[in-house]
Amino acid sequence: MQTLVARAGLLCLAFMLGACASAPVAPWEDEAPLYYRITYTRDPTPGLNVEVFPSRSFPKDFLFRQPGRVESMVVTDLNGTQFEFTPRADGRVSVPSRTRVIRYRYPLTASPKGGGRHLFGGMGEGDTWHVAGKAYLLTPARVTPGMRAELTVSGTNELLPWKPDANGVYLLRGADLIDAGFHAFGGRRCKVRSGGSVLEVALLGHFTHLSDEDLCLWLSQSAHEVTKVRRRFPYPRVTVRVVPVPGDSTPGVFGMVQWSSPPSISILVGQDATAASFSRDWVAIHEMLHLTHPTLMPRVAWLTEGLATYYTELARVRSRRQTAERAWQELTAGFARGQAAAGSRTMEAAVAEERNFQAIYWSGALFALHLDVELRRVTEGRARLEDVLELLATRGPTATLESFGAAVDTVAGQPLFDALLARHLPKPAFAELDPLLEYLGVRIDPGGVKLHAAPGSVVREALDLGPPPGDAG
Ligand SMILES: [Zn+2]
Repeated sequence: MQTLVARAGLLCLAFMLGACASAPVAPWEDEAPLYYRITYTRDPTPGLNVEVFPSRSFPKDFLFRQPGRVESMVVTDLNGTQFEFTPRADGRVSVPSRTRVIRYRYPLTASPKGGGRHLFGGMGEGDTWHVAGKAYLLTPARVTPGMRAELTVSGTNELLPWKPDANGVYLLRGADLIDAGFHAFGGRRCKVRSGGSVLEVALLGHFTHLSDEDLCLWLSQSAHEVTKVRRRFPYPRVTVRVVPVPGDSTPGVFGMVQWSSPPSISILVGQDATAASFSRDWVAIHEMLHLTHPTLMPRVAWLTEGLATYYTELARVRSRRQTAERAWQELTAGFARGQAAAGSRTMEAAVAEERNFQAIYWSGALFALHLDVELRRVTEGRARLEDVLELLATRGPTATLESFGAAVDTVAGQPLFDALLARHLPKPAFAELDPLLEYLGVRIDPGGVKLHAAPGSVVREALDLGPPPGDAG
């Protein structure tokens, strides 16, 4: 299959160069793919030279999904005539039907003087760069399920979300161009293994106190903690980019998962962080925990962030990185911050505020806790929230709020999700917090959190236990 696709690519290139202009139009399955040739160059400043070869039958409408940095491009037609094009402000570009190749340069630095830090647009130093695929790739304005693309990179070592074939060619679907994830150019590499899964890591830039081994051990620990929530690491292969933040000693400054296929993770790490500080880090495990749930379409940030935030505390207890008391301290402190950020609004109103992160993350985490407790209560301990994640994983990479709820009800063996949702969303945010903590035997004293016997303290203690050992080898 891969050989066939690669051969089609060569045919495509030959056709684009005019060598077989009279070749008959191939049927759809054999149609030449869209071809991207990417070359990293550092002169005069770091950038990517991109050449896009559209096939004859491809639509000629293209789009920069995050426009801004490419101001001009040169289109060469089949006769060799060149035209200069300027992308529209909305990123759209329409090229003539006889276009052979579209060429442009994507500057990785924000300004010609160098430097500049933008997680999506370009971030790095020297010859090590981090950029989102959607920032630099000119993509078809519309992709169809059967659309194929091929991509090659030269001039540096790259780490893209996908695995290249034996010839170094990335064989992509049209959808991969839209959800193109995070990309790394240059830097050092390590591989982290978890069961049968592998995390390919790009280390971009230099750290004051941290060795590559320190960074990769930290990611290994975080990957291990994911298997305290799911029976095995959720993807056979994912890529992780680690980018230093100068002048910062925070271990995990910021992290993000992009929904490429498979998802790609990037983590910003303080350049001056120490290995010891990783013991309190939550960013790496939080991002990896986003791999344990399906992508919610449409987006339901409070639920996905709530799940990752809730499990960040549980996973670190189950791995013995923190005590149960410490986890409840973190959870209750987070709930308090969320409550302060939500004020007297309903949960529905508070989470609708796009940038109210504390309210979104922590009201979602409270909901996840409550859901886990209710699942265990109604099934007398036979089911838990992890079982919902395992079930959803068998149903594909995406879910809706409704299909998530249906999976909860299946695991519960009775309707549960909508009733619980009705106790949270339309009510003042965190209204369920105090009774839930009381049931679980969690008391907030001036000196810290006290765990005590209560009707639900057995359920609380069971939360500390992970899933049964996985069968990943
Ligand atoms: Zn998150």
